Amino acid sequence: MIQKFIPFALPDIGEEEISAVSETLRSLWVTTGPKTREFEHEFVNYLGGNLEAISVNSATAGLHLALEACGIKSGDEVIIPTLTFTATAEVIRYLGANPIFIDCDPQTLNIDIDQIEAKITHSTRAIIPVHFAGLACDMPKILAIAKKYNLRVIEDAAHTLPSKFNNVMIGQHNSDAVVYSFYATKTITTGEGGMIVTKNSEIAKRCRIMRLHGISRDAFDRYTSTAPSWYYEVVAPGYKYNLTDIASTLGLCQLAKANKFHQRRTQMAKKYQESLKDLPIKLPPVVANTATDIHSWHLFVINLLPEAKINRDKFIARMSEKGIGTSVHFIPLHMQPYWKNEYNLQDTDFPHATKNYAGSVSLPLYTKLSDTDHDYIIATIRQILN
Ligand SMILES: *Cc1c(COP(=O)(O)O)cnc(C)c1O
Repeated sequence: MIQKFIPFALPDIGEEEISAVSETLRSLWVTTGPKTREFEHEFVNYLGGNLEAISVNSATAGLHLALEACGIKSGDEVIIPTLTFTATAEVIRYLGANPIFIDCDPQTLNIDIDQIEAKITHSTRAIIPVHFAGLACDMPKILAIAKKYNLRVIEDAAHTLPSKFNNVMIGQHNSDAVVYSFYATKTITTGEGGMIVTKNSEIAKRCRIMRLHGISRDAFDRYTSTAPSWYYEVVAPGYKYNLTDIASTLGLCQLAKANKFHQRRTQMAKKYQESLKDLPIKLPPVVANTATDIHSWHLFVINLLPEAKINRDKFIARMSEKGIGTSVHFIPLHMQPYWKNEYNLQDTDFPHATKNYAGSVSLPLYTKLSDTDHDYIIATIRQILN
């Protein structure tokens, strides 16, 4: 008998998406167009309005554009957590600037805010906080440091649809830019895709220009313009980062389901917490105040305690033998060859992220996961750890 395998993650794409995307294909408008404008509009509405949204073909592209629009250039320093995906750091290198890595807070697994000030130099220009797993960073505290030292703040919000801190949605904390990902495993997906949101119209304008080859639309947009329809002006060597209407159509359907998806994720996270609490593992951190904060539950990350008598790699192998996919988020950047060697990073400089990595396992948590499979995962973990 072939054992069924429960994958670590799956997107939740229904007949609504399939028929809406088919309709877009039949319209023959396949690149950026009306669906993309509608997706940007609806995304802003979802976050509560009063923002500009610039869709892009990945969060990586969005982070790159946001940094560029903030004027980050060669030799600048940008503060980031070591516990993140490499995209957060690589975009800094795209511009010739240098990431400055900070350890995680062992409680929240987010950037240790108390270590930021000590790392600020005359070259520091920005901070990129990452809301790990969907647990929001203390944005007021980060923004206060940024204000004191005149730094830009670009949030890596790849995990945060929807997350809230102090009753304010991530996206609405008055950072310079907030960047979402719609990669296949994220809380909503467009296959590949991302969104930049900002309250700063200058940043929005620059991102829009650089998203599409550095072409300025001013010649078309002005009422007074007498330019013919074929005319355009290239004002910078831009990029090709626009989102297609095919992807945006998928995004519109997914966004309409985002609250339903979130309810299901929250319910599943609760079930994990209740059924695993007596085991030799550290459960993921939760919001400080359930009345004012929201965890998106993009990821459910447990940590095996020394009492577990099985190490992380063996645990993952046993789960896999039982037909369950798991993952690790993330191998900290200070342990990745490029970042480690390029910036001479030592494990001892990041004790919390290093220790966290040793026992860290991400469990399956997605809306397509059935109750039966969820129960089987819980029973299997209990069996392995008891
Ligand atoms: C997924 C992810 C990204 C990159 O998103 P893409 O849309 O794949 O470019 C960036 N940062 C974090 C923390 C992520 O998890």
